Amino acid sequence: MKEYNYCPICGAPLHAGFIDGKTRKCCSNCDFVDYKNPLPVALAVAVKGKQLLLIKRGIPPKKGIWASPSGFIESGETSEQACLRELKEETGTSGEIVKLIGIARREDKEIYGDMLIVQYLVKVTDDKLIPNDEVEDARFFNIPELPSYYTNLFQTTIAEIQEELPLQ
Ligand SMILES: [Zn+2]
Repeated sequence: MKEYNYCPICGAPLHAGFIDGKTRKCCSNCDFVDYKNPLPVALAVAVKGKQLLLIKRGIPPKKGIWASPSGFIESGETSEQACLRELKEETGTSGEIVKLIGIARREDKEIYGDMLIVQYLVKVTDDKLIPNDEVEDARFFNIPELPSYYTNLFQTTIAEIQEELPLQ
């Protein structure tokens, strides 16, 4: 993860200071403090019937890994809007939010550091797949075909999809 060495506001060198119970980088010139906050991400567990739509990531982190469509929530949009926007951008499909699955913390050691991941169950309403250039591939998986790491992450939700509980 990239670190500030100089103040992003005024350009003065940062030094270590003890602020709000923690050692943090602070500016020697202005009142900037380098608080570390997780980046907010919206993620779509996208389903059609009992099939889940996954993308093969085309960019780091986790390039080449099959995962749910996801991306950073931008200023001015809700987490629901971000979720459906990322689904559309990465796969070409449209969907509607069924429910909030939960909020998870993950640490990305490659680039982004701490992430706060808002996870929604999304019903795919238009399944024409047009993956964008951030993904290597996109396709629907039957539940038994899902990679085991994915099944472990979303065990409860996959069990519900199996029973078709959320979509009735
Ligand atoms: Zn400064």
